[in-house]
Amino acid sequence: MKILKFGGTSVGSAESIRQVAKIIASYLDQGDEIAVVSSAMGGVTNLLSQASELAEANEDKYLNITRQIETIHADSIRQLLDTQSQSKSLANLKMTINELEEILHGVSLIKELSVRTLDLVLSFGERLSVPLLAAYFQQEKINAIPVDSRQLIFTNNDFGKARVDYSLTDKAITDYFQNISSIPIVTGFIASGENNETTTLGRGGSDFTAAILGAALNAEEIELWTDVDGVMTTDPRIVKNAFSLPYLSYIEAMEMSHFGARVIHPPSLQPAFNQKIPLRIRNTFNPAFPGTVIGSKPKTSGRLIKGLSSIKQVTLISLTGSGMVGIPGVSSRLFSALAAKDISVILITQASSEHSICFAIDPANAKGAKKVIKKEFEFEMERGRIDEPLIEQGKSIIAIIGENMRNTPGISGKLFSALGRNGINTSAIAQGSSEVNISVVIDEKNLSKSLNAVHQAFFISESKTLNIFMVGVGLIGGTLLEQIQAQSAYLLNERLLEINVIALSNTKKMIVDEAGIDLKDWKEALENATNSANLNSFVDKMIAMNLPNSIFVDNTSNLEITSLYQQILAASISVVTPNKLANSGKYRDYQLLQKEAFLHGVKFLYETNVGAGLPVINTMSDLKFSGDQILKIEGVLSGTLSYIFNNFTGDAAFSEVVMEAKNSGFTEPDPRDDLNGMDVARKILILARESGIEMEPEDVVVENILPKACLEAASIDLFFEELTKNNDHFESLKTQAEQSKKKLRFIATLEDGKATVKLTAVDQDHPFFSLSGSDNIIAFTTRRYYDRPLVIKGPGAGAEVTAAGVFSEIISISNYLYQGIKNILPNNHG
Ligand code: ADP
Ligand code: ASP
Ligand code: MG
Repeated sequence: MKILKFGGTSVGSAESIRQVAKIIASYLDQGDEIAVVSSAMGGVTNLLSQASELAEANEDKYLNITRQIETIHADSIRQLLDTQSQSKSLANLKMTINELEEILHGVSLIKELSVRTLDLVLSFGERLSVPLLAAYFQQEKINAIPVDSRQLIFTNNDFGKARVDYSLTDKAITDYFQNISSIPIVTGFIASGENNETTTLGRGGSDFTAAILGAALNAEEIELWTDVDGVMTTDPRIVKNAFSLPYLSYIEAMEMSHFGARVIHPPSLQPAFNQKIPLRIRNTFNPAFPGTVIGSKPKTSGRLIKGLSSIKQVTLISLTGSGMVGIPGVSSRLFSALAAKDISVILITQASSEHSICFAIDPANAKGAKKVIKKEFEFEMERGRIDEPLIEQGKSIIAIIGENMRNTPGISGKLFSALGRNGINTSAIAQGSSEVNISVVIDEKNLSKSLNAVHQAFFISESKTLNIFMVGVGLIGGTLLEQIQAQSAYLLNERLLEINVIALSNTKKMIVDEAGIDLKDWKEALENATNSANLNSFVDKMIAMNLPNSIFVDNTSNLEITSLYQQILAASISVVTPNKLANSGKYRDYQLLQKEAFLHGVKFLYETNVGAGLPVINTMSDLKFSGDQILKIEGVLSGTLSYIFNNFTGDAAFSEVVMEAKNSGFTEPDPRDDLNGMDVARKILILARESGIEMEPEDVVVENILPKACLEAASIDLFFEELTKNNDHFESLKTQAEQSKKKLRFIATLEDGKATVKLTAVDQDHPFFSLSGSDNIIAFTTRRYYDRPLVIKGPGAGAEVTAAGVFSEIISISNYLYQGIKNILPNNHG
């Protein structure tokens, strides 16, 4: 059994509810047994609380709000349900809204809102959302049934945050689940108190509902679906480069949520914690992402801290006076008095001189606390032994959290130097003795700055960052961006490597964002960009930004761009590219780029120039550097020509094979651009240069396979006409080959300093004889690999493998840039 809880952010609109249905269906398809818990539609609980306040103030404006709530639900009903089912749901909605309005009317008459009535009013959010969801799921062929959690969860009458009676509750849940055949869609947040009063479990309490169900049913996992990729290092709304954490211990999660990370509701951890049921936080809008697991295994990421959280508004109260020094029991009296009035204390510090105690509380309790303290210490205050409490508003707390902090020196030093460097003053500091958390009180106006500075200090500077400037976002570039996006969390968590895409350009538009482009919607961002594409200004901007570890990635086959490489390398920016044109022009230009990269301590990498992602160029340089000598290179270096000749074996005429290759998308629009061998010539030229030969493009001998008439045909259609006329020529080449038990292959060869590209018949002993499909193959004969050559074979074209090749070169640059920087972190993976 899995419990899936969807938060208000996941059920906030018809569109998101559709998404939720898809997620549920995918679990059912897998055969999972599930129960669903849902919150109110996003924002509705807040609206209900506003309506209650207005009613209490005796303003009939609450009716505007109840109408707004009605509209939110009615809109979703209309968008989600078939016309027949709409009327029933709309009628139910109307009835429930009437009931709500009656209660609020009552409140407005007596001008008093009790905590009991407030809970009743707040319960309407979930009571409205769940029937709507269940109706829609049923329509989507999910056997769903709405369940009011007031028949399952029983509490005391501590309205606002009622305490669960587990023995009643667990029994009710297990009884109920024993004989159900449908998928229950359970209201989160609400419960039954004594005498069947409606209670709530505290704001954000749907998480708790899920945990209670999970614990009672001994679920395999409790999944909390929300609108972010799990628990992040800190609140992503405040710190842009917060990232999601793959794993947190229960204790860490508890600390994070106590200190403001509302992505999980603290009490919800307890039942899961007690029974060691893992909780997983997942993103409804990114269901492929694994999210964050919260469990009991002591697994750490090797980082000093796990996360950073904050409480935006607290009140700081200090109690000082000579009468406190050396007198036992002062703090115990203080905190007992506060506890008696249900005022919970968020943080406490006491100077060792015992001259003062300082603590933070929720601002809503400030007045009450002052009263309590004055009463408790009336006697001391009258005699001047204890001063009037000092109350400071406008404060926030930030806390760093992680079990790794235990016994690791230097962490607070890092925290305070990050704050100090940014001119942020701290009003109070507390470290729990468990050393899982250090909290600092600061001025609220510095909250965002503090979180950003501390996040930077602990997460960003520890990690390596690469700043990518990419030109060309077509098939290869687009795939590369997808791969980077898919891999980024892993790289960050496991390799502490952050890849920031700073700028993108296609032929029409360009975008530059120093904070990094959100790869989830780079397409839209580029489409909506206001800057039209301009290569020179793209490069100028990149150079002017002067970011550390910049890499220019050229995914085009554009010649003009390659003329900018020299300038880019000279600005100490590495270049990674599948574009062959820079390396297959004049030898002098090739050499210049190599030199420029070397002089400026950056990399110029182009493994994907030959054989896409296959390790051809790197293998060559490994052979060379290890003292081997390359005697001969032979290769089928064009996927297209490989495909054509591998398929030119049966009855089909040559022109038919070429046509078929074209129709299957294997050739350039004009197949002559492949058949003329020029692309292969560029590749063998690059390999020749890599092996140390000064070769010019015109030195490569290409034996043309196409008859003149084919080459000169004025259109593609006419070319095929001519090719058909020449089928006999190709047929006889093939028959000749077959008679001597050979096969035709379009081979590029480098031997004795000479490069040739030609159609060759190879026999059974040749490594290329058994080539199939559109694979590339390259055979190196070297001094060491003399009798049998070293052969590299595999797909040598395609967006996926080419992009992967570019990606791995980008990553290889991080190793280079950061070599020599020792990883100072404790290595306690596992
Ligand atoms: P739900 O409606 O799904 O229960 P909440 O709004 O209660 O969602 O919680 C999710 C929100 O918590 C996120 O949108 C995010 O803004 C906020 N949040 C605060 N701190 C963190 C954190 N450390 N990690 C993830 N989200 C956080
Ligand atoms: N609807 C409730 C709230 O907004 C409970 C929840 O969403 O978890 O607090
Ligand atoms: Mg929540």
